[in-house]
Amino acid sequence: MCCVMFMIKDHLEIRNNHLIIGSADTAELAEQYGTPLYVTNESRVIENFSAYREAFPEADIYYAAKANASFAILRMLSREGAGADVFSYGELYMALLAGIPRKKILFNGNSKTDFELEKAVELGIRVSVDSQDELHALSKIADKSGKAAEIAFRVNPDVSPKTHPKISTGLRTSKFGIPSEEVVSIYREASELPGISPCGIHCHIGSQILDTSPFKETVQKMMDLVEKVVEIGIHLEFVDMGSGLGIPYKKGEPAPTPQDHADAILPLFKERTEALGISPVLILEPGRYIVADTTILLTRVNTVKKAVKNFVGVDAGFNLLIRPAMYDSYHHVVVANKASSPPEDIYTIAGPICETGDILAKDRELPRVEKGDLIALLDAGAYGFSMSSQYNGRPRCAEVLVKNGASDLIRSREDVEDLLAKQRLPARLM
Ligand SMILES: *Cc1c(COP(=O)(O)O)cnc(C)c1O
Repeated sequence: MCCVMFMIKDHLEIRNNHLIIGSADTAELAEQYGTPLYVTNESRVIENFSAYREAFPEADIYYAAKANASFAILRMLSREGAGADVFSYGELYMALLAGIPRKKILFNGNSKTDFELEKAVELGIRVSVDSQDELHALSKIADKSGKAAEIAFRVNPDVSPKTHPKISTGLRTSKFGIPSEEVVSIYREASELPGISPCGIHCHIGSQILDTSPFKETVQKMMDLVEKVVEIGIHLEFVDMGSGLGIPYKKGEPAPTPQDHADAILPLFKERTEALGISPVLILEPGRYIVADTTILLTRVNTVKKAVKNFVGVDAGFNLLIRPAMYDSYHHVVVANKASSPPEDIYTIAGPICETGDILAKDRELPRVEKGDLIALLDAGAYGFSMSSQYNGRPRCAEVLVKNGASDLIRSREDVEDLLAKQRLPARLM
């Protein structure tokens, strides 16, 4: 019982052997809305965001929209005063519509289209410029429309975040950012280009970081760069340190908090900015930390098969949660309708997709699993729905937001018509 309790985390509960989220019974939610189903606990989103805000009272918190761009979540965070880190015109469009002020949005990306740069200029959105080509393109676009684009450069601080290679973004070899040794010359060039107003500096070293020492190293390296940029006369209104704070997906993993993040970087940041006599706004861009543990993916058992392993065939696969297949990620599994029953056997949870790699969880000790049971994959709020697809002709599932036991549909389930919605037949095939 004690390990069951640990595993479900402090914002989930068990009542009458059922898993409860936001005081709502998961079995009832599955009955009401069908499966697969993403369920998000509204209060938990607010708690996580508040933890960041309280740990960094003087900083601006820009939520990384790509972690979970569901509109209701963007709206909630907008109301809490969040800014946004966006990576495409689509995310920008949604962030603005959610009410996030344009001055609190940073448009990131290593390969933006001219259309995206035009939109940023037209809407007055700050751009994090990732290359010299982008700088030149943006200069032309802004100059032509008689505006000045406020920019930061995304710089590559060459820090190892000690995380999965696919989510390390600040190594020298990563595709992101301007190499450290070119930073001064590109700021100098930018300050002379028409239509460009350099006013910030930006980095982001990676994701799912559970040791705060790389954050500190990043501040060290970034402030060395800031010093050089300030020396050539650039006025920096903001220094954006990105984010990447991870969460403990697995029992025993470290659980650093925003306060730990703040303790690791704030003293150094203050010391270095004071020494330079500057007072730029600090920006942080948490994505995963804000949403990961707020959401579960509920999926129904279609089959239980005894083969080399006990395979539990469920109705969600990597079409809806790609992290296990893509990053070998661990998501804790709870049999939601038998949440406090003792473990009886070892099971592997397999999705319905025609790929051997469509495994959501390997070799888990669970209560006896049978057809019709309800499986909950925990901590599915970040890079879950937002990375979903229609692969294998599977319409995407619904999303529900729960609060104090009540639930609201925030995204309806797609149906087969949605698979065809944008497709066209040439006349000869009619
Ligand atoms: C993805 C991303 C983030 C958020 O990373 P998390 O690990 O989800 O906190 C922040 N900034 C940038 C530039 C990103 O690309």
